[in-house]
Amino acid sequence: MNHMISIAIDGPSGAGKSSLARRCAEAFGFLYADTGAIYRTVGLAAIRAGIDRKNAEEVSGLLPTLRIEMRYNEEGEQRMFLNGEDVSEEIRLPEVSIAASDVSALSIVRQYLMEMQRSLALSNNVIMDGRDIGTVVLPNADLKIFLTASAEARADRRVKQLEEKGIKEAFETVLADIRYRDEQDSNRETAPLRRADDAVLLDTTELNFDESFAAMSQLILEKFCIEDCRETAEKTE
Ligand code: C5P
Repeated sequence: MNHMISIAIDGPSGAGKSSLARRCAEAFGFLYADTGAIYRTVGLAAIRAGIDRKNAEEVSGLLPTLRIEMRYNEEGEQRMFLNGEDVSEEIRLPEVSIAASDVSALSIVRQYLMEMQRSLALSNNVIMDGRDIGTVVLPNADLKIFLTASAEARADRRVKQLEEKGIKEAFETVLADIRYRDEQDSNRETAPLRRADDAVLLDTTELNFDESFAAMSQLILEKFCIEDCRETAEKTE
């Protein structure tokens, strides 16, 4: 099999990983995989089942009853299905973010979802975003980017994003959610959020979307098009 190219994008909640990774995937012809959506689907299932989301035994009892599927529609958009039902919109609710962070701290959940993530990268050129893609899921990714921004900047962007979807949330509530998840995602025992040693750090606190996109594209171009660029430059000299 040909070697598939994989780009791992990790970072805290609301750093813009999803929108930037999606745009770069479109621009460079990669498949975009949002792994947070998979954890959110498990979080939603736990809410619906009314179980204690931090209890490994209760959550591990739930997992075999779930059928979680990631499908791509004709527009190339990733959709999440829980037992056949399209839950792509519902998993974006703020309470599901918290539930996702809770269940994702359990190693049984991380193990359960590992295969789904790795198999995508085996058969596609992917840009995959998450918390542990560069450190655990795809340690041999061709390019690793750690995307971050201040908690306030991230909360501000998330409020606007939710507003666009018709969901009203106070800045303080969103900031508190982000801090809760930062704390929990960074301090959990299994696969904590951390920058891989070989990941490039990209801080977008002071950058708007277009500037962040330009910075990320530059990293991709430098990594994969350096030979082409050199040849083109030589030809035009
Ligand atoms: O990226 P997103 O905010 O949608 O992820 C929701 C939650 O899922 C995160 O707060 C994090 O706890 C968890 N997650 C994870 N590992 C990933 C992706 C998401 O633990 N690879």
